Amino acid sequence: MLKVEHIGIAVKTLADSVPLFEKLLNSQCYKTERVESEKVNTAFFKSGDTKIELLESIAENGVIAKFIEKKGESLHHIAFEVENIELEMARLKSEGFILLNEKPKRGADNKFVCFLHPKSTNGVLIELCEEIK
Ligand code: ZN
Repeated sequence: MLKVEHIGIAVKTLADSVPLFEKLLNSQCYKTERVESEKVNTAFFKSGDTKIELLESIAENGVIAKFIEKKGESLHHIAFEVENIELEMARLKSEGFILLNEKPKRGADNKFVCFLHPKSTNGVLIELCEEIK
C-alpha cells in the first residue's frame, strides 16, 4: 500500500463539523461531495499529504447513521492508497481478509474503493482506494 490517503470521521452534521475541523486543522474545507450510493455527504480537508474526510449521513438507515447510533461520532475508517485495487483486493482476500465488496466501487473524490470487514482487521474499518485515471 502506498500511503494513508485519508482518514474518515463520522459526524452528525457537516454544518457543525466543517467549521470545527477548519479551526482544528487551520485550513479550509476544499471540497464537499454527495455520494448517493453510500448515502453520505462528504467534506475534505488537507493535512500535508493526507486528507481528512468527514462523513454525514443523508439517510436515516444509512451506514453512517447506523454507525453513529452505535458508536457516536468517531473515527470511521482509514483509507490506504493502492496502485492497483483489483490486485490488492485479490492479495488481501488470499490472506484471509474479508472484503465488503467483491468488485471495486466508485467512492468520493474520484476513486475506486473497497472496504475490508473490521472483524478481520482488529476492529478498524479499512478502505483501499485507487485514483481513477
Ligand atoms: Zn474514505
